[in-house]
Amino acid sequence: MKLTFELDHIGIAVESLSQGSAFYKTLGLGDMHVEEVPGEKVKVGMFELANDARIELLEPTQPDSAVAKFLKGRGPGIHHICLKVSDIRSILKALKAQGIKLVHEEPVPGAHNCLIAFIHPKSTGGILIELSESQGER
Ligand code: ZN
Repeated sequence: MKLTFELDHIGIAVESLSQGSAFYKTLGLGDMHVEEVPGEKVKVGMFELANDARIELLEPTQPDSAVAKFLKGRGPGIHHICLKVSDIRSILKALKAQGIKLVHEEPVPGAHNCLIAFIHPKSTGGILIELSESQGER
């Protein structure tokens, strides 16, 4: 099976969704879809772009959330990029076999009823990369 990759979204760490979304609303991106992802300790706000990619704003819901730590260290800004993949489990297995450092060796539930996993920036050249596999309608 040929693997396919699409840009799914760009994740941006914000102190709060209301504050962080102001610019994108001014820009005219329309309504923000808000969803809480308890496993990642974040509230996400999604703006849909015309090519099906999205801008994802991430507000931490707990002080020990990875996004809270990111904000503390670096302030608001690009936190990760997410690639949509067709078979997340086989990709994770292949990456692990090649010594790539994974945050999640098994996929976990993400927003929009997706399975997600993060690849550690140490193995990617400094960018936190999220893989996401859709499980039907998002
Ligand atoms: Zn994301």
